[in-house]
Amino acid sequence: MHQHLGSCASCRREWELWQNIAARFQHTPLVAPPAGFARRVETRLARRASLRRGALGGTVLLAGSVTLWSLVALGAFVSLLTWLTVDTAAASTLVSLAVHLAQTAAPLASLLEALLNSVRHAPVQIVLVIISAVLLVASTAWGQLVLYDRRASAHASQP
Ligand SMILES: [Zn+2]
Repeated sequence: MHQHLGSCASCRREWELWQNIAARFQHTPLVAPPAGFARRVETRLARRASLRRGALGGTVLLAGSVTLWSLVALGAFVSLLTWLTVDTAAASTLVSLAVHLAQTAAPLASLLEALLNSVRHAPVQIVLVIISAVLLVASTAWGQLVLYDRRASAHASQP
C-alpha cells in the first residue's frame, strides 16, 4: 500500500484525508452518555416487550376460549340431538318443558316488549343521547382500564 501511495497522487490524497479524520477523532474527548442512559433504554425495551407479550397473551387467551366454548357448545348440541333421536319420551318431555318455560317467561317477554315499545315511541333525540352517554361511559371505563393496566406493568418492570 505504501509503495502504491508513493506513486499514485489520488490515492495519497485520499489516504491523507483519512489520516486527518483519524487524528481529529483522536484529539476529541469521548462524549459519555448521560447518567442512567443504558438503564433507561433497558427499562423501556423490557416494558415494550412485556406490553407485546400481554397483547399476544390476551389474543391467544380470547381465541383459545372462543374455540373451547364453541367446541363445548357443539358437543352439547350433538349429544342432545343424539339423545332426542334415541329417546322419544325424553323428546316429548323436553318439548313440554320448553312450553312451560315459555309460559313462565311470558310476563318477562311482555315487560321487554313494553320497554322496547317505549324506546321505539320515545323521541329520537332522547334515544340518541342515551346511546351516546352509554358509549361515552363504556369507552371512558375502557380507557381507564387500559391506563391502569399500563401503569401496573410499568411499575412492575421498574427495578
Ligand atoms: Zn492509486
